[in-house]
Amino acid sequence: MWLPRIDTPRCTGCGWCVAACPPHVLSLQLQGWRKQAVLHDAQGCTGCRKCERRCPFGVISMVPRGPVEDGRVSQDNENLL
Ligand code: SF4
Ligand code: SF4
Repeated sequence: MWLPRIDTPRCTGCGWCVAACPPHVLSLQLQGWRKQAVLHDAQGCTGCRKCERRCPFGVISMVPRGPVEDGRVSQDNENLL
């Protein structure tokens, strides 16, 4: 199973990924002074990759689902190495 990893500093907050997600587990949330995409329900993500394909800026990449499924998957996986 895969989860989207959002390269938050590069996210423009355009919302395309949020609209493309069938189970609605992505949302735009205020991070400081601007909105950025957040995976708010990793458990509900089906790994369909629609968000990755929809992002016009290549901000989303799919990573293997880690033991802690809170959106910091790649970081958690690095800790396991
Ligand atoms: S992989 Fe699919 S289900 Fe998961 S966040 Fe992206 S669009 Fe939504
Ligand atoms: S489609 Fe890409 S740039 Fe737009 S909100 Fe989603 S992750 Fe950010």
